[in-house]
Amino acid sequence: MAVVTVDPAAPDPAAIAAAASRLRAGELVAFPTETVYGLGAHALDEQAVARIYAAKGRPAWNPVIAHVPSIEAARALARDWPRSAESLARAFWPGPLTLVVPKARSVPDVATAGLDAVAVRIPQHPVALALLRAAGVPVAAPSANRFTQVSPTTAAHVVRSLGDRVPLILDGGPCAVGIESTVVDCTGDDVIILRPGMLGRESLEAVLAPLGIILRHAVRTIAHDTPAQAPHAETPRSPGMADRHYAPRADVWLFDTHQRDEIARSLHQWQQTRREAGQSASPVHALLRGGPLVDRDGALATGTRYVPMPSSPVEYARALYGALHAADDDSVGLVLIEAPPNDAAWDGVRDRLTRAAR
Ligand code: AMP
Ligand code: MG
Repeated sequence: MAVVTVDPAAPDPAAIAAAASRLRAGELVAFPTETVYGLGAHALDEQAVARIYAAKGRPAWNPVIAHVPSIEAARALARDWPRSAESLARAFWPGPLTLVVPKARSVPDVATAGLDAVAVRIPQHPVALALLRAAGVPVAAPSANRFTQVSPTTAAHVVRSLGDRVPLILDGGPCAVGIESTVVDCTGDDVIILRPGMLGRESLEAVLAPLGIILRHAVRTIAHDTPAQAPHAETPRSPGMADRHYAPRADVWLFDTHQRDEIARSLHQWQQTRREAGQSASPVHALLRGGPLVDRDGALATGTRYVPMPSSPVEYARALYGALHAADDDSVGLVLIEAPPNDAAWDGVRDRLTRAAR
């Protein structure tokens, strides 16, 4: 496995060309996008896409997003290009928005998990764009991590999660957005948010409402992690919205600010129970927005590391996965997370926190 540093301000054409030719040859290349690092493969090459699933341990029913450098390249993957898709693409691409549209025959079933729709996006990262232009083929790229683990926001995260399973990793620095793209379904009359992200519903509505197009939330995305649990009776609209996802290895307690005292008490109890059971003390990370968690004596519970989290949603999203990776690195026994406010700007972050806590 090779890690090649590429300056986002001026991506080295030779490094980009080498990575692009690997992609065209059917090999895997991990690369930075503005959301998270992607594990890329030639999207029209069945065997190449199969390599993504093998490397990630990703189940075959979970479709991948095809990355392209232009709207024309996106349209080439679509059997039909809805008005909603055209308007959203023009408004927000390149950017953290994925559009699900009817799939063209050229897109292999393995990339869409057999669905009749394909997910497409133009990423905003200069290294990703340079790579896609040089490759000249659409690039399927889910997050560059093992299935159900926390997505990578640095090249070092990719190395730790996939290591020798990926021959080449382009290091373009930390990701600016930090959580995965907003995914919307454009195949019907209404546009449906399948996965919230940092591009929020108000922004989407501002484009869709003047066209008379209604924006809705998916009622309940499919809650299964294994094919054995998958409901075969219906075709899931977005099968990859696995319940437990983006999750660190340790248990996560997600709580609201008004539950601080209660959580401090539960933490003491948790630590005491472990001591009594003769288990070694394992550290606890507390990702908090409102100052450290203190017990009755005003002290931080022993063994608990206070991880201050940003108060703005944009900065919180950027910091979140790094904090969850740090918890994994410290082999913590427990992660405490103080939930952010329940308003639209936090939709994407709240979605990931809820999944991490399941
Ligand atoms: P990621 O792990 O970030 O690549 O997430 C891709 C997610 O986008 C999948 O897990 C699905 O939930 C969603 N997705 C991808 N392709 C489709 C599709 N054809 N139809 C509906 N949802 C899709
Ligand atoms: Mg992922």
